[in-house]
Order: sequence, then C-alpha cells, then structure tokens
Amino acid sequence: MSKITIVGGGLVGSLLAIFLAKRGHTVNVYERRGDPRKTDVYAGRSINLVVSHRGWTALRAAGVEQAVKAITVPVYARMMHDREGNLNRVPYSIDDKAIYSVSRGELNRRLLSEAEALPNVKLFFDHRCVDVDLQNATCHFQREEGDHVVVEADVVFGSDGAFSAVRQKMMLGRFTYSQEYIEHDYKEVAFPANADGTPKMDPHSLHIWPRRWFMMMGLANQDGGFTGTLFMPNTHTDQAPGFDTVRTPEQVQAFFQEHFRDALPLVPDLVEQYLRNPQSTLAIIRCNPWQVNGKVALIGDAAHAIVPFYGEGMNAGNEDCKVLNDLLDQYGDDNWAEVLTRYAAKRKPNGDAIADLSMRNFVEMRDLVADPKFLLRKKIEGHLQAKHPDKWLPLYSQVKFSDIEYKDAWKEGLRHDRIMEEVLAMPGVEEKWESEEVERKALELL
Ligand SMILES: Cc1cc2nc3c(=O)[nH]c(=O)nc-3n(C[C@H](O)[C@H](O)[C@H](O)COP(=O)(O)OP(=O)(O)OC[C@H]3O[C@@H](n4cnc5c(N)ncnc54)[C@H](O)[C@@H]3O)c2cc1C
Repeated sequence: MSKITIVGGGLVGSLLAIFLAKRGHTVNVYERRGDPRKTDVYAGRSINLVVSHRGWTALRAAGVEQAVKAITVPVYARMMHDREGNLNRVPYSIDDKAIYSVSRGELNRRLLSEAEALPNVKLFFDHRCVDVDLQNATCHFQREEGDHVVVEADVVFGSDGAFSAVRQKMMLGRFTYSQEYIEHDYKEVAFPANADGTPKMDPHSLHIWPRRWFMMMGLANQDGGFTGTLFMPNTHTDQAPGFDTVRTPEQVQAFFQEHFRDALPLVPDLVEQYLRNPQSTLAIIRCNPWQVNGKVALIGDAAHAIVPFYGEGMNAGNEDCKVLNDLLDQYGDDNWAEVLTRYAAKRKPNGDAIADLSMRNFVEMRDLVADPKFLLRKKIEGHLQAKHPDKWLPLYSQVKFSDIEYKDAWKEGLRHDRIMEEVLAMPGVEEKWESEEVERKALELL
C-alpha cells in the first residue's frame, strides 16, 4: 500500500481521501486554509451547488451517499422569473428526476469529517503547498506561523483547485495550458426564510431570473432560505449593466428594482449584502498532461476548471475520483504509472467536453430559457423522450442524469441541435408539436 499526499482538502480532495483510504492507502491531506468546521472560511462565498447523477454515483461508491443526501434539498425544475415576476416552471426531466442543492461549505465540512473518521487519513490545515518535487513525489508546505514542512510520499494528487500550486510546478516542464476568464463575475446574496422557517419560494425549483446579458439564480438551503448568485459582466456595455455600474447603495437598489423586482422584497438587507459580499471571477482552465512520472496527478478543478452553468464542476471532479478508483480495481494498487496514465487519458477529453458544455449552458440559462422557441424545443424533446426513451435522451438528461461520457454527450447534443433546427422550421410546428408528423420528422433525421 502507498503513502499518498493530497494537496487541497476541498470537495474533491476530501472525497479522494475517502476513496484511497478505504483501499488501505495511508492518506495525508494538506489544506491551505483553516479547518472549515472550526472557522468560517466560506463567509460570503458559500455558494450552493447541485449534486447530480455522476456526483451521486461517486459518493455511493465511496460509501458516503447517505451522509451527503442528509444535507441536500431535491430540485425538480427550473422556475423562470420574468421582469414582471411571472413564473414559468419547466421540469428537468419527464420522469421527475431531481438534482440536489447543497451548500458548498456544508458539503466540504461533511466530507472532511467522513475522511477524518477513517484511521488512515490525517488532515493538516494551514499548510500551503509551495513546491513539489515531481520526480520524488515530495511536497513543500508553508505554515501560517512561518515553519516549512517537507513531506515525502509515493504519489501526490493536486486537488488544489483552479489555481493549483501542483499544476504550477508541472507547468515548468512540457505542459500545455490555457486560462480564459469570461466577462461575467458573480456575487452571492442570501435569501432568508420566513420568520417561521418556511421558504419564501418553491424550494424544489432552481429559480432563474434570466435577463439576456446577466442573470440571477437561487438554490434552496435546508433552513428554508436560498442562496442567490448574481452573474453579470464586470464591465457594462451599451446593452447591459455591469458590476462596475452597480456600486453605490442607490445603484444597487435601482438595479434590483428594474431587473429583479420580485426578488427585492424577499431580501430585506439586499443592498448591504451586495456591497459587503465579494465579487468573484470565473475562468476556464484546460491543461495537459494531467499526470507526470506516474507519481503526481491533477484532479478536480486543478485539472479542469469550468464555468458553473451546468452545475457539473464538482460532479466531474467526483467522477474523476470514481474513475481512478475503478482503474485501481482493474490494474492494482501498486501500479500507479499504469493507473495514472490511463486515468489521464480517459478523463482529459471529458474535462474538455464538460468545459464546452458548460459554456453552452450559460447561453441557454442566460437568454434561451426566456425564448419561446427554446421552450418549444424543450417540449418537443420531452415528448420524443416520453414516446421513444430508447432513441431520444435530451442533452441535459445525458449530462445530468446519466453516466454517458461527457465527450459522447457533447457529440450527441450537437446532432440533436441539427435535427431540432429542421424540426422547428416546420410550418405550424407551434400548433402541432405533439403530432405524429413532427415526431416522424425528428426520428427520420436521427
Ligand atoms: C458560483 C459557482 C457555482 C457552482 N455550482 C456548481 C454546481 O452546482 N455543481 C457542481 O458540481 N459544481 C459547481 N461549481 C464548481 C465547484 O465549486 C468546483 O468544481 C469544486 O469546488 C471543485 O472542487 P475541488 O476540490 O477540485 O476544488 P476546490 O473546491 O477549489 O478546492 C481546492 C482546495 O484546495 C485548497 N488549496 C488551494 N491551493 C492550495 C495550496 N497551494 N496548498 C494547499 N491547499 C490549497 C483550497 O483552499 C481548497 O480548499 C460551482 C462553482 C462556482 C464558482
């Protein structure tokens, strides 16, 4: 059995620790920040995440599905809020499938506790990785108090997020890397529950306020409140405001009054929160290779940071852990070079695909969910899926409710686009979308 260093005790690092420890390896997790169970390291940044099918598959395989399910809220539909406050509910699937809302901080705390309960896992907080010897799997950590810790291991995993220090070291060698910031940043706003603890909106829907160039989302918490996230360009344009033009209390009040009128009365301290909470950036990071020397590998956001619009960043990271675990089953626990090479080869194309899919869903959430043509397409696809589940699985369901590899889902989604373009061009399709004629046309084009 091996001695393993995991750099980064976030969502993926803590799950990876559980997987590897349950196999019998000795696992040491080194986290830059303090222990989130003792200090509020997530203050103002405790965004909510959705756990979906792939995430659950991995959590189940690691034996922590129930522990995580206990802190989630199931979400069955998107609830669109227009400017007037009218609501339109669109289920995620035709058979009542759900995605699950959870607070990132709460989930991290739960996974760390599950990892720490295993006798062969040790967690070290306030340890910032500053260097990695890639030949020897040796890591160097800097502590708050100033001391320097050197840790030798057989294998190192960099699960230290989008701005990974492990990856930074790999970049000094033969390494391809790209980093793209999108123009949109985000900011969190907490929606409180009613005084009696009941929610002010349907907790089983993902609330979306799509406004073409910007949008707000709201996901339920177990305490009846919601975590709202505003996505908006940093810099305004002729068409739309930006964070740079919504800065003063008066501007914030006027902005929400104009664009999110129905949300205003739900958050009494909205202006204070908006001004207090940080504005964060969003980047897409691609890199290659994901492992070197069969000794050091990247996993989670360190390998594939993506925009959050499919809600798949962590789910993809969880799937990385599950795939790695399956490869260890197949090739053995002492064959790291083989396992890590296969892990990287299998996951890299999927990391690229979910990055593309996530950008596509950004456009869908931001402007298309308010577009009648898009809504008609969703209805036709739901109808096709209901009648021919073996032939038509909409892209969203492939990504969120199946184990189909992201790269294959992406290819199939592009094929669906071409077919639906022709179907939506049929004269009178708005009236006859449920007809056999429309169904036949779509199936013929398949
Ligand atoms: C607004 C928003 C919404 C999102 N929604 C969803 C969603 O609905 N569903 C979903 O699946 N994903 C979602 N994501 C993505 C998800 O948050 C990430 O994919 C996930 O957190 C990645 O986990 P990770 O462990 O790889 O990285 P992180 O969670 O970033 O954890 C990395 C850890 O490494 C530590 N670290 C960093 N540098 C060092 C160092 N030098 N030394 C030691 N430790 C270090 C950090 O402190 C951190 O604890 C969302 C992201 C955002 C921004």
